[in-house]
Amino acid sequence: MPNLLPAIFFGHGNPMNAVATNNYTEAWRRMGQETPKPKAILSISAHWFVPETGVTISTGPRTIHDFGGFPRELYEVQYPAPGDPALARRIQRLLAPTDVTLDNSWGLDHGTWSVLCHVYPEADIPVVQLSIDETKPPAFHFEIGRKLAPLREEGVLIVGSGNLVHNLHTYAWGSHPRDPYEWAVRFETEARGMILAGDYKPLVNYESLGPDAALSIPTPDHYLPLLYVLGTGQQHERSSFPVEGVDGGSISMLTVQLG
Ligand code: ZN
Repeated sequence: MPNLLPAIFFGHGNPMNAVATNNYTEAWRRMGQETPKPKAILSISAHWFVPETGVTISTGPRTIHDFGGFPRELYEVQYPAPGDPALARRIQRLLAPTDVTLDNSWGLDHGTWSVLCHVYPEADIPVVQLSIDETKPPAFHFEIGRKLAPLREEGVLIVGSGNLVHNLHTYAWGSHPRDPYEWAVRFETEARGMILAGDYKPLVNYESLGPDAALSIPTPDHYLPLLYVLGTGQQHERSSFPVEGVDGGSISMLTVQLG
């Protein structure tokens, strides 16, 4: 396949990663250096989870600080990447007959910028965000990924941002590191095996995967961006995990790269 860009699911975790230097942020930086520079980025973030599919149309998407109670320096982060209205319209056409709203109110939320500020710190690549329709079943999101797949041949880097395991009820917010919960490790291991085998169907039907999956995915918002990325997969495509780790016992920081 000529010039096929990878598709990447990032585990973004704590918003403070935006202003931190740690193993995750250093790995994100390396990935930006090693990935061929895209013409544009399409980001599907856990934090734009609304009752419709929308795409940002602005030429200058604002940096949204969509969280509360964090230090001031996090609110001062700006990620001034331009938008790409032509790409937004192309996405709208690709996804037909699904209705896609051209949205001028959203911008880039922290699921997008807390990672991209490390991967592409210059903020010189146009970024478009696509919302996750919270009313739709998992298979719908995987199917959207399939329809978006041609963009990978057109210089567009498709990025999902969430967390494979995301349980804030059990998350250790304190500064003491906590060992990962056994159910989190078991589910992550199971999911990694399926991804490596290209066996995406059970991941789409994750609600039938049992109690470990239920604890790992108590709400779908942080998991569904992975299904968009997997949906863009080509037949027999290589997958890898360039970033690994579990934060606070119950947040998987796993990055999944196709291609
Ligand atoms: Zn998040």
